[in-house]
Amino acid sequence: MTIIKNAIDSIQIGLEDHQANDNRRNISAVRNISAGILLLYKEKLCQLSPEDNKELLIKQNIRPVSTEDGTIKFEGKGHKTVDVQNIKERFKSLKVEVDWSRFDEINRLRNDLEHYYTSKSPDTVREIIAKSFLLIRDFLSDQLKLDPQEVLGPDAWSVLLSVSEIYAAEEKSCRMSLDKVDWVYPTVVDSIKYLRCTNCHSSLIEAPDSDEHYSCIGLRCRSCKQEFDFDDVIEQCIDDSLGGEAIQSVMDGGDSPYDTCLSCDKETFIYSEGKCVACEYEMEHTSCEICGEGLRLDDQWNGGKCGYCQHRWEKVMAE
Ligand SMILES: [Zn+2]
Ligand SMILES: [Zn+2]
Ligand SMILES: [Zn+2]
Repeated sequence: MTIIKNAIDSIQIGLEDHQANDNRRNISAVRNISAGILLLYKEKLCQLSPEDNKELLIKQNIRPVSTEDGTIKFEGKGHKTVDVQNIKERFKSLKVEVDWSRFDEINRLRNDLEHYYTSKSPDTVREIIAKSFLLIRDFLSDQLKLDPQEVLGPDAWSVLLSVSEIYAAEEKSCRMSLDKVDWVYPTVVDSIKYLRCTNCHSSLIEAPDSDEHYSCIGLRCRSCKQEFDFDDVIEQCIDDSLGGEAIQSVMDGGDSPYDTCLSCDKETFIYSEGKCVACEYEMEHTSCEICGEGLRLDDQWNGGKCGYCQHRWEKVMAE
């Protein structure tokens, strides 16, 4: 059986699991669909492999060997095939485009689902299927040059479409209720797309009463009806929104865009806003009174001087 056939079978079986209306089969639905996506990627690697060795690029270890006529060729070593990280690297060097942020999001949702699955999770399953649908459709048509509707067959296609439409409609109505809230800070607006239910992890969150101040606004999960305040999830939203940038910035020798607030102790002090977006604490000293350098939360104890000027000042005072 070919890889592409396996991929399509796996996706179709996943959708049948989902259609079974049996909560226990939802995890299996998600596993099958995820496995199908990886198989589509492997199919692409096989297509790109040389004519005389069509499975070369799915081998995890590839080594150069010299042939009898003195030319160099590559061969796969061992039985191990590529994992997700290998596929990412190979696609990067082979210039095969995949929306990896969507893929990673689906993977994260799937992990959460495996760990916290409850009977209240069907919306999370629907979200995973809706997001997978976009990946599958685009990869089939853009990279494998296949007609998604034709290869998936009418049954699977109509399930994918209806699940995606339901999810899109719910998402839109949540989005509209959140858009009515005045989130005040651009950083907070950006972080709202990471809103998730504290109980079932669904992203279908609405704000029933948009008039309250954003920091204490009440939210409700459309999937499991759990109610919570934005204040309960603001740290998580900021972390999901700025965490990657923070790691990158620190690795490059720079500063994190956010810090632990000196007033409320949440990790929600945002330098670009000059404020904590949870409690609106502002720094007393924003720039060094001697050299004018911008100050950070750590510098607040020096009475308005940066670390360098404070150090020099202490030296002068000691002499
Ligand atoms: Zn929920
Ligand atoms: Zn604060
Ligand atoms: Zn200074």
